[in-house]
Amino acid sequence: MTGALELGLPMRRPRAGLPERVTVWEVGPRDGLQAEPTALEPAVRAELIRRLAAAGASVIEAGSFVRADRVPQMARSAEVLAALGDLDARLPVLTPNPRGLQDAIDAGAREVAVFLSATETFSRANLGASMADAEAAAEEVVRTAVDRGMRVRGYVSMVFGDPWEGAVEPDASARLSERMLAWGVAEVSLGDTIGVATPGAVADVIAAHAARGVPVDRLALHMHDTYGQALANVYAGLEAGVRIFDSAVAGTGGCPFARSATGNLATEDLLWMLDGLGIEHGMDLSAIAGTGDWLSAELGRATTSRVARALAGGKEAR
Ligand code: MG
Repeated sequence: MTGALELGLPMRRPRAGLPERVTVWEVGPRDGLQAEPTALEPAVRAELIRRLAAAGASVIEAGSFVRADRVPQMARSAEVLAALGDLDARLPVLTPNPRGLQDAIDAGAREVAVFLSATETFSRANLGASMADAEAAAEEVVRTAVDRGMRVRGYVSMVFGDPWEGAVEPDASARLSERMLAWGVAEVSLGDTIGVATPGAVADVIAAHAARGVPVDRLALHMHDTYGQALANVYAGLEAGVRIFDSAVAGTGGCPFARSATGNLATEDLLWMLDGLGIEHGMDLSAIAGTGDWLSAELGRATTSRVARALAGGKEAR
């Protein structure tokens, strides 16, 4: 071993065979905040996004064009976009239906995302539609957006397991991904909505996609840390060639419709591992951690990021 261990910085030991560079897709301002009990005003959400961009985040999910009575945390997302017109970052927004898409277009959105569930029960509980009806609605949104030259991301929820249906077959998500790519989505983000995946399951799901001709460079991984497996699952994804990873600053979020789900993988924790592996991502861990501290104060709750807690403890100890 060479080099001193500097407290507050990860040990840097690159591994051969992993991607040299990845995209960290920051979902905190949308997926994170939509599940927090405290609803933040649009101006505060815009400030969060500015801080994330200043810390190097290049893709930041900025809001959701859904019914405000269903998801009050995402109300007035148009005002968030309006406050960020000059920002040098991609700002995708969630548009679950044609009405939401039109509202997003009117608000100046250039990138949108749609959701499908890999299980029937969650589709009905979360999307309020059968899988078949949800697919038809999503297809309409995707095709309309693509026709307008917008970049569209597809999400699949409950890729690995579902609290009602148990383990989910890897091909269930692969089938949906194949369809969404045929409609014109740029990539599909595979969501471990309740955080039950383990690394072998990640490898199996990516293999199931390959078997349907879905290339790994069209996939993103969206892991939750419910059982502490999120980073192990990211590592399995890196080994399989995935180069897009979703995370939320301060580990905000979870899933309001899924029992026992806890937060998204914290961006701070993801960056610590990527920095340790020498994988480029364009973000500044220290600045992201500062943003997480600021957000946690705004939300009045403790961060779930282990890295943020360790860094804060280190400061107290010195
Ligand atoms: Mg999530």
